[in-house]
Amino acid sequence: MLRITGKTTVIGIFGYPVEHSLSPLMHNTAFKHLNIDYCYVPFPVHPDKVGEAVAAIRALRLRGVNVTIPHKQAVIPFLDEISPEARIIGAVNTIVNRDGALKGYNTDGQGFVRSLREDAGMDPAGKTVILLGAGGSARGVGVQLALAGAKKVYLVNRTPEKAEEIAKVIADNTKAQAEVLPWTKEALEQALGTAQIIVNTTSIGMFPYYASVPPVITALLRPGILVADLVYNPVETGFLTAAAEKGCATLSGLGMLLYQGAIAFELWTGQPAPVTAMQEVLRGCIENRIC
Ligand code: NAP
Repeated sequence: MLRITGKTTVIGIFGYPVEHSLSPLMHNTAFKHLNIDYCYVPFPVHPDKVGEAVAAIRALRLRGVNVTIPHKQAVIPFLDEISPEARIIGAVNTIVNRDGALKGYNTDGQGFVRSLREDAGMDPAGKTVILLGAGGSARGVGVQLALAGAKKVYLVNRTPEKAEEIAKVIADNTKAQAEVLPWTKEALEQALGTAQIIVNTTSIGMFPYYASVPPVITALLRPGILVADLVYNPVETGFLTAAAEKGCATLSGLGMLLYQGAIAFELWTGQPAPVTAMQEVLRGCIENRIC
């Protein structure tokens, strides 16, 4: 049980809906683990109230908030400053309040890159990556991989226009090459000839659709490729199971969820996040279906 006093520092999360978020559990576990006087509270912010909610960060002297769907773009005009990666991605998932000055960050893609390094032992520098999907998470992950030195990002999406948009953002703002591919056997086979990493950023395989895997590519996997999934529920998706059976190394989306939170935690508190405790509570909650 958290002990809240008049001195407790408050962090929040803005979303709509917000009830499904695992962030309160993850961050309150971290505060308790380190025995620091912080608490983390969910705020369901209606889309018409985003400006008022951001102003309330100053008025209520919150230390900061996370921002989730559908507000990641909408908060930007109300902030004093945004970080370079958030500007390129065009979305903010973390706000820090420094004496009334609000700065927005995007830790989603950074969380993926940290998971890639820490959990899979892979540095994206110089690598060629195939991204499946072109939604909000693909934008964050694609840009951050490019900023981390990836050589080339292939974008593959059911709706190719959305992939073209992300390819342009990467090409205009980073040194990486970006190319859109059709979702066909021929195109993917060719890309697999040079790629080291495949990332599923689509929602295919998400609970309760365990059996679904991204079409075409799953049959083409071969050893030597790292296959990552952003889906974290289930922790091991059907795509990762199939990839492991083909001899690929795999990376669960749980790591991105953990590290995007850990980076935000470090921005708010100035101290290293207790990632083991945070990971255990996330994993337990997802695997035991208690959240
Ligand atoms: P989003 O913006 O709604 O994008 C969804 C993407 O999935 C789009 O590219 C969409 O293609 C594609 N898609 C959906 N169903 C498909 C299907 N049946 N066949 C082919 N493509 C399909 O969602 P998002 O925010 O990027 O999130 C995507 C997934 O990442 C979700 O499962 C989410 O839980 C996960 N995620 C994980 C983390 C983490 O921390 N691990 C963070 C963010 C998101 P179209 O463009 O053609 O519609």
